[in-house]
Amino acid sequence: MSSTEADCLFCKIVLGDIPSTPVYETGLTYAFRDINAQAEIHVLVVPRQHYEDAAVLASEDPALLAEVMLAGVEVAKQEGIDESGYRMVFNTGPDAGRTVFHAHLHVLGGEQLGLFGRPYRTG
Ligand code: 5GP
Ligand code: ZN
Repeated sequence: MSSTEADCLFCKIVLGDIPSTPVYETGLTYAFRDINAQAEIHVLVVPRQHYEDAAVLASEDPALLAEVMLAGVEVAKQEGIDESGYRMVFNTGPDAGRTVFHAHLHVLGGEQLGLFGRPYRTG
């Protein structure tokens, strides 16, 4: 697999071809603020290398997936929300509303977060 995809938004952000607000980075990951924040703090963590989604990343490079998660933990510490709490989310597939086809971890916090999804209705 090539490390970047020419028409991928987050590959362009990783390369600096599209501007972003950096929050944290490692040799293999990059974290930046979500352009349309859904919480007081909303940061995206991506592997620099292109993987279509978290499922592909998990099967092809689980160590890199772990590094993405650890970067999310560091983001939470750096943003000062490690004690107050935070949510880490990978959206995968249409029902989850996934819109960008480069694996990314959402780190959300800084306020009381809403319900996760909606209450399950049985009847
Ligand atoms: P998804 O819905 O695929 O899980 O999440 C994609 C996220 O990327 C969304 O929260 C959206 O606001 C964010 N996003 C989309 N385009 C851009 C962009 O150009 N810059 C930044 N920083 N975030 C973006
Ligand atoms: Zn990409």
